Amino acid sequence: MARRVLITGGAGFIGSHTALVLLEQGYELVVLDNFDNSSPEALKRVKTLANSNALELVEGDVRDLDAVNRAFDRGGPVDGVIHFAGLKAVAESVANPLHYWDVNLNGSRVLATAMEQHQCRTLVFSSTSTVYGEPEVFPLHEEMPTAPVHPYAQTKLAVEQMLSALCRSGDWRVACLRYFNPVGAHPSGRIGEDPLGTPNNLFPFITQVAAGRRDKLRIFGQDYSTHDGTGIRDYLHVMDLAEAHSVTLDHLFHSTAPHQLTLNIGTGCGLSVLDVVRGFEKATGLPIPYEVVARRPGDVPKLEGCPQKAKDILGWSAKRDLAQMCRDGWTWQQANPLGYRSVP
Ligand code: NAD
Ligand code: UDP
Repeated sequence: MARRVLITGGAGFIGSHTALVLLEQGYELVVLDNFDNSSPEALKRVKTLANSNALELVEGDVRDLDAVNRAFDRGGPVDGVIHFAGLKAVAESVANPLHYWDVNLNGSRVLATAMEQHQCRTLVFSSTSTVYGEPEVFPLHEEMPTAPVHPYAQTKLAVEQMLSALCRSGDWRVACLRYFNPVGAHPSGRIGEDPLGTPNNLFPFITQVAAGRRDKLRIFGQDYSTHDGTGIRDYLHVMDLAEAHSVTLDHLFHSTAPHQLTLNIGTGCGLSVLDVVRGFEKATGLPIPYEVVARRPGDVPKLEGCPQKAKDILGWSAKRDLAQMCRDGWTWQQANPLGYRSVP
């Protein structure tokens, strides 16, 4: 019988790509999403791409125990959960910390409560490389100290800690995946990243400049101690990240003992802002005009993780290169100039 998986935030950027990979592998899915930062159109397209109807939607808030219970009670028993639902904008978390603690921590607590009630204790949690704070030693290993410097990362670390306590208290199987910087889109260009308003992140900003929606990229600082002075991040293709979720679930389903895993999910290869700009220009043939402006408050010079533990434990490593991230991101941008809102 097909395994049944609950995906919170399954209509979002990473959630929709993961839902597609899992549907293609024959899972039955229930998605819980309140569409705070996404569109139901993403799920329609996921079903079409997978040629499958094995995805049910429960529209609701992960902080609402009744809504989460509705998702659990929608069909047969849920075997495992992937928890994407949450907020991710660093500056917004500084401006409105209580909202971040509510959605990210309280939402996770309510979800875990419903999981206990339904005796479903297998969970993959979306954590972030920003829990490492402002490290000075690279590459980052999972055992290195965490020192988050903004409420967004603090809420994610707090959830990791809550989940550790659950693992110590009972029969839980939990994986906390510390993502680095997911970019790109499904190669079909049917699903992708759909930021509301001006993008905060580098990659969607670049694709919007390429499309002529923005006049130029503003590079936040060229005075960091990196090879060209611009900030370094570990960018990975969202399809590699989606596949990491599927192998993680598989690992948890086949593990005999309760345990908690914490894994870096990245390529292990840091790229500067200028590396990404030049890579995009090369992959697409399109110029990306830019100007260098002041550093963005709160930015760290460099984040680059070691993904070896994920390779050793899951057999997973990122397969797609920067050129593919750029080509696929650009295909999505061209086909959906206004994101899912282009659809009447
Ligand atoms: P996203 O905003 O595209 O997806 C999040 C989804 O959760 C959206 O569909 C949104 O509508 C839904 N959601 C938000 N609040 C909700 C609530 N209270 N109840 C129900 N649904 C709710 O973001 P994403 O990039 O797909 O990120 C997914 C997860 O991964 C987030 O938890 C994020 O913090 C984490 N993460 C993302 C990145 C990144 O760079 N994208 C990096 C590290 C970690
Ligand atoms: N960045 C930039 N201009 C932008 C957006 C981002 O120069 O319009 C830089 C940013 O300073 C950082 C890198 O690009 O060095 C990645 O930023 P992003 O917001 O995508 O990811 P995060 O900082 O959350 O890792």
